[in-house]
Amino acid sequence: MTPAELREAYRQVTDRIGEAAARSGRSAEDIVLVAVTKYATVDQIQQLLELGHTDLGESRVQQLTQRVAQIDEFLARKRTLANAAPKSKDLMPEQVRWHMIGHLQRNKVKQVVPLVSLIHSVDSLRLAEELHNYAARHDLTIDILLQVNASGEGQKNGVACPAAFHLAEQIDTMVHLRLRGLMTMAAQSDNPEDARGAFARTAEIFKDIRDAKIGGPTLNVLSMGMSHDFEVAIEEGANVVRVGSALFGEKPADDA
Ligand SMILES: *Cc1c(COP(=O)(O)O)cnc(C)c1O
Repeated sequence: MTPAELREAYRQVTDRIGEAAARSGRSAEDIVLVAVTKYATVDQIQQLLELGHTDLGESRVQQLTQRVAQIDEFLARKRTLANAAPKSKDLMPEQVRWHMIGHLQRNKVKQVVPLVSLIHSVDSLRLAEELHNYAARHDLTIDILLQVNASGEGQKNGVACPAAFHLAEQIDTMVHLRLRGLMTMAAQSDNPEDARGAFARTAEIFKDIRDAKIGGPTLNVLSMGMSHDFEVAIEEGANVVRVGSALFGEKPADDA
């Protein structure tokens, strides 16, 4: 994939986000695109940042750790260059926001928390407690989403729909965690319409939690939709979408 192809893919994804947002009475600025970098090269990530992109997502701890270090170094280098020769048209963000979107084991909490702005994948009371203990020890507040299993698939991570409300209530009592909203993944399917039911169910739980004033005014994140279904997700109320292959290409065959 050439830089021009990546730029074009980025433009297409952001255009489609804008159109889907318009269909749900919102605008492109209301939707955050998290570029999922798990199958991207470091060059591709750097090119995306040069286009002004700020939000990046990783699903595995080891890769997150590597990527954060690589990108930090790249940004530091860029800043040094920019200070030496300022360019008015530089779109590069000062800082990127990393999102942890994959399953998080409790023994990896201390590695992940310092690196990320938002953890999308809190799916148990025990993980929430571990995060809360860590945050209390370091006098932090950690932004999290509760991951809901709205597609009902046995093997998927996420708390079952009927349990989500109660877990949200429990997390709401943990003063060092800030519950920002919900995340879900739809079942794999060739037809994006198949995802609509799971997204609508998650949006409904989100509304129930908000109506109950759980989380307060900062409960405002609904993370739903990936490359194949982000438009349907936005139509159903998502304001964060997590897109990998539509930006960077399909995953390499040897990684299947
Ligand atoms: C890989 C991944 C994505 C992005 O998937 P694509 O289909 O490549 O867009 C989004 N969310 C999670 C949790 C993922 O693991």
